[in-house]
Amino acid sequence: MVKTKNTKALLNKYLKELFLSTMRQSYEELANQARQESLSYDQYLLTLAELECITRQNKRIERNLRDSRISRDKNIDTFDLKRVPVKVAHQVRSLMEGDFVDHKENILAFGNPGSGKTHLLCAIGQELIRKGRKVYFAPCSLLVQDLLKAKQELQLSRFLKKMSRYDALIIDDIGYVQQDRSEMEVLFTLLADRYENSSIMITSNLPFSKWEQIFKDPMVTAAAIDRLVHHSVILELNIESYRMEAAQKRKTKSRTS
Ligand code: ADP
Ligand code: MG
Repeated sequence: MVKTKNTKALLNKYLKELFLSTMRQSYEELANQARQESLSYDQYLLTLAELECITRQNKRIERNLRDSRISRDKNIDTFDLKRVPVKVAHQVRSLMEGDFVDHKENILAFGNPGSGKTHLLCAIGQELIRKGRKVYFAPCSLLVQDLLKAKQELQLSRFLKKMSRYDALIIDDIGYVQQDRSEMEVLFTLLADRYENSSIMITSNLPFSKWEQIFKDPMVTAAAIDRLVHHSVILELNIESYRMEAAQKRKTKSRTS
């Protein structure tokens, strides 16, 4: 093994070339610690390699969280699971494990406005990202506009390919805004493209019986529902609006105080 006077300079150079920035920053301090604790060479190297991997993983998660466009405050710690039906709470715990993504299953969250659908799917999405998956969040109306723009620019297949890189796509509030035929068509194209390829997570205030309002044509509506439901978990949030409940609690409190 070479023994040179400028070990430090060379080590810095090589670690930089190998893009091992965490090892570069930490090897000296950890070497001192290793000497004090009489660690073996193997143990020292293991500690350094582990640190590099963990730092990279955390950076990747941070990048994917940013890229997902999920609002950070809608996470599982800020969500009161006791407010939702027991069945939903069980479903959510298991969904957060992420196996549904491997099976290309979908999640469909139904319920009144304010019942917590968006918050819940965002929270599941964040947990998926922490487990190494890629997720993308988009309000349905914006996603449809992006799809239309891509289609007009003859970039639809490119856009769909970009979306297919995400393990799960959260489409928030499907059916909230009335869509015209061309909007419905691109939305259907997206659903069909992801069918059995990657997961979709949808929130909607509209039960399936009213989905013709979204897809206009009964055949297209049936085809869309069929594809979504085929492999899916349905979360029924038939509960009172969280905002309404919070406002009522505040009112009662101010009356009694
Ligand atoms: P929806 O999408 O069903 O209309 P949201 O998820 O937007 O409802 O929830 C409305 C508001 O209430 C949000 O600010 C959300 O963070 C909050 N909220 C809803 N349910 C819960 C809950 N169980 N725990 C904590 N906050 C909640
Ligand atoms: Mg919502």
